[in-house]
Amino acid sequence: MKLFENDLDKPTVTRVPSPGVCIYCMVETEGLTDEHVIPYALAANTLILEQSCCDSCQGIITSYEQDVLRHQLGVFRIQMDAPSRTRRKDRPTHENILFVEVDEMGRILRELVTKSIAIKDLPLIFALWQSPPPSILEETVNRPSKPWSFVEKEVAMRFCQEVAEETGAVRVAMKVADVRKGNYLRSLAKTAHAVAVANYGLGSFDPFLTDIILKRSDDLERFVGDLPGLSPFEDDPAHTMQVSSGEIPDGPAAGLLVVRIQLYPALKSPEHFIVVGRPTRNLDPEAEIPKEGDKSP
Ligand SMILES: [Zn+2]
Repeated sequence: MKLFENDLDKPTVTRVPSPGVCIYCMVETEGLTDEHVIPYALAANTLILEQSCCDSCQGIITSYEQDVLRHQLGVFRIQMDAPSRTRRKDRPTHENILFVEVDEMGRILRELVTKSIAIKDLPLIFALWQSPPPSILEETVNRPSKPWSFVEKEVAMRFCQEVAEETGAVRVAMKVADVRKGNYLRSLAKTAHAVAVANYGLGSFDPFLTDIILKRSDDLERFVGDLPGLSPFEDDPAHTMQVSSGEIPDGPAAGLLVVRIQLYPALKSPEHFIVVGRPTRNLDPEAEIPKEGDKSP
């Protein structure tokens, strides 16, 4: 497994030379741009694949990746002081937060009020999506596909209590982050594919995800899901993102190339597991080193 951990306090920069074609549509064209393998907004310039994305693919990817980075993770990124191309003094300081009345099942009954709240006062809310394992793995684990979030509950409760008193509503909830499942899973597919290309090279595997990345297929859950408990990393709360990649050694999906992605692991967030393709050559250099028992005397 190739491992990569990002700690935003100590950013490193790795540049991988251009493969000479766009890594998504495989077209050789003028004007390929450098690709941030992990979006800049999550990991600054940690891993860059030089001249590897064409204008047309960039446009398609931006249409969903920006939604994830702005509407799903935007407030959280400001709270965590994540990398941003927006100058510090131009970044938003307040966010319009919608308060709603909900029933005991958490279903929205009506909208109550929208308040402009200073981002520094908002509860920390980190919203992702949690999924069963990718269906290509044929795992029988029966986990629901649903939103996942980490919320500073006490802070959120204070705001909701205030609105309950003002409006007379019984149960109040606040809406801070918007998770659109399709956009989020597609962004994971895009990042996983780029990680695999940066680590192993474009010709080293048959890619499964390019149609998903370019929105020609919606078969996301076949390849994108979660598989917890496989973290190869030591727990370190400072680390903002963990990425690892390698070949599945056994089981019904043996021999497939996978990428594991976990954002802010200290928050016990979902452990995304993305099947990126089928290797066309031996990807693991360690496999070529003879094991102790294999040595002839
Ligand atoms: Zn392209």
